[in-house]
Amino acid sequence: MIPIHLSDLIMLFMAVGVTVVCLLWFWTFVRERRRETHRRRIAIQCRICATAYARDPKSKSSVTICPVCHTPNERNRLRPI
Ligand SMILES: [Zn+2]
Repeated sequence: MIPIHLSDLIMLFMAVGVTVVCLLWFWTFVRERRRETHRRRIAIQCRICATAYARDPKSKSSVTICPVCHTPNERNRLRPI
């Protein structure tokens, strides 16, 4: 049996707890960043009615139809000013 003081045991548990909280925070941060990247990749905003909708990620076509006003929209990268 390893002799350990109560104060050392408390410090050990606190260190483990802080480490677990930091790892959970970092994991949540990375997961949210990946989700936001995915959302931005599939999101399209209609150029007529400004409705934001998601395109089918499996679709090869770059032109999608707005579900509200049925206007064809093409996904383009933002052009520099
Ligand atoms: Zn529209």
